[in-house]
Amino acid sequence: STHSTHPVSYYHHAAGGKVLLGLKRKALRIVVTGGAGFVGSHLVDRLIARGDSVIVVDNFFTGRKENLMHHFGNPRFELIRHDVVEPILLEVDQIYHLACPASPVHYKFNPVKTIISFLKTHRFATVNKTNVVGTLNMLGLAKRVGARFLLTSTSEVYGDPLQHPQVETYWGNVNPIGVRSCYDEGKRTAETLTMDYHRGAGIEVRIARIFNTYGPRMCIDDGRVVSNFVAQALRKEPLTVYGDGKQTRSFQYVSDLVEGLIRLMEGEHVGPFNLGNPGEFTMLELAQVVQETIDPNAKIEFRPNTEDDPHKRKPDISKAKQLLGWEPSVSLRNGLPLMVSDFRQRLSGDRKEVGA
Ligand code: NAD
Ligand code: UDP
Ligand code: UDP
Repeated sequence: STHSTHPVSYYHHAAGGKVLLGLKRKALRIVVTGGAGFVGSHLVDRLIARGDSVIVVDNFFTGRKENLMHHFGNPRFELIRHDVVEPILLEVDQIYHLACPASPVHYKFNPVKTIISFLKTHRFATVNKTNVVGTLNMLGLAKRVGARFLLTSTSEVYGDPLQHPQVETYWGNVNPIGVRSCYDEGKRTAETLTMDYHRGAGIEVRIARIFNTYGPRMCIDDGRVVSNFVAQALRKEPLTVYGDGKQTRSFQYVSDLVEGLIRLMEGEHVGPFNLGNPGEFTMLELAQVVQETIDPNAKIEFRPNTEDDPHKRKPDISKAKQLLGWEPSVSLRNGLPLMVSDFRQRLSGDRKEVGA
């Protein structure tokens, strides 16, 4: 049962019951923090399309107005420039909390590019503040108005996992003082806060642990592997494989993730739920798929790997299959071309970037 064939004839109401779409369901007021970003903007598209009102809260740290411009002028859409580290008063039914500097160059020391240490420290602090104070504020908001709260956590809570594939019951193997711990530990703390507000204040919460996701609107230069390889192939630059390229990741297309997030929010289960595509690839295999999709002559160049890089990552999604009726339906080979055409368009629109 894949979601693409799943009937949209019913809908899980926020209160939990199934309501026929034919009968009129109450439109919801939903806030999406980080809604100007890659995943957030696709989520907003779906929520608007099904008839709800959406408020996006975003400080444009990595997000872009372009991702949401097609909703400007829609009375059911509102965009607020705001940093979630500061408190905010809103009246809503649901909160999707995505705000977080999520891309590696924003939290990880990258030996390939030199980042001065002041900037680095400042950015690391920003990640932790967003994850801890930002999540606390959104939970405070959920508590005050009785909204349901969904946290987008990450597979990084498993660290460099000693269990493969990763099941939600695994507690992880995280270095608390490493270069990527601001992200890993920040998200772990966000999960803790979420469960504390659930147990202590009775807030309805949902936790998603998202595995590597790709698709249109990804930041072109944020340093993640899929966006790097695709941009490099289109620019006729060599694909940069870090380390020996034998480390693995499992890549999920963004529409599959958005379907999973909505099912999680509307369902009855707190989670945490792994949301990811179990198809596992080494970075060399990924480079091959990119070559096949864009340019068979693209060169591969090896670079030193970053510190604390997880060796393997692959989600066990039995729990989401069983309790949410969800599983991904877009394979890497089918999803990649959709991202490539978006990148091709954006790169050709920016002559500086293609070096013309
Ligand atoms: P993104 O960088 O495209 O989006 C994050 C958004 O949050 C951006 O629009 C950014 O401007 C905004 N933001 C950051 N700090 C903020 C702050 N303090 N206040 C308000 N807005 C702020 O990243 P994404 O890939 O869309 O990620 C969305 C969420 O999913 C993140 O929480 C991320 O940790 C999680 N996630 C993503 C992946 C993935 O592969 N894309 C994997 C695991 C988890
Ligand atoms: N908060 C917010 N919007 C609200 C309600 C709360 O931003 O509508 C913030 C609030 O400023 C606080 C955090 O959420 O920093 C946690 O709120 P809570 O009421 O749980 O804690 P308290 O304010 O009692 O410390
Ligand atoms: N990676 C790579 N070349 C790049 C960027 C990343 O080989 O240009 C590798 C990186 O070392 C890691 C994997 O790809 O092993 C995934 O990296 P990414 O930053 O996309 O995601 P994460 O490490 O957070 O899973």
